[in-house]
Amino acid sequence: MPEIKRDVVERYRKGTLEVITDFKASPTGYPFKRLVPTDKTEVEPCRVCDLGYLRHVYEKEDGTIAYRCPAGPRNRFLASGGTEAEADGKHCLCNGLMATIGLGQIRDGQAIPPLITFGDNLSFLDALLSPDEVSYTAKQLIEYLRSGVATEVR
Ligand SMILES: [Zn+2]
Repeated sequence: MPEIKRDVVERYRKGTLEVITDFKASPTGYPFKRLVPTDKTEVEPCRVCDLGYLRHVYEKEDGTIAYRCPAGPRNRFLASGGTEAEADGKHCLCNGLMATIGLGQIRDGQAIPPLITFGDNLSFLDALLSPDEVSYTAKQLIEYLRSGVATEVR
């Protein structure tokens, strides 16, 4: 969403963002990098998955196949044979990333907060944007990324 991108650019320039690599957050088990503000308390990411986009396949006791998510409702995950260790620290990336693109859910009257993932380094923003710009297009970013490429890769 444009306001999220603008906020990231402004916070980067103020030096009030950091990139955290969270080794537990992703239900897939892969490290997940997210931006967090350093000048205010981080809004707690969504911890309960009700979308299930990162569910895992598992074999039930009767030999049938089913799906479960370590970020899903804990009692349901544990009842399906998942462990506390697998569920601890998990975030629902589905809901957080949907909120980031403007499709977040409202739960108990509260908007699920966006989850902003990013690479290690935001310094490309200095090269991409003039000091008065607070946003960029996908085209600008692709042109920037290709600016150091000497030849086409086919
Ligand atoms: Zn989820």
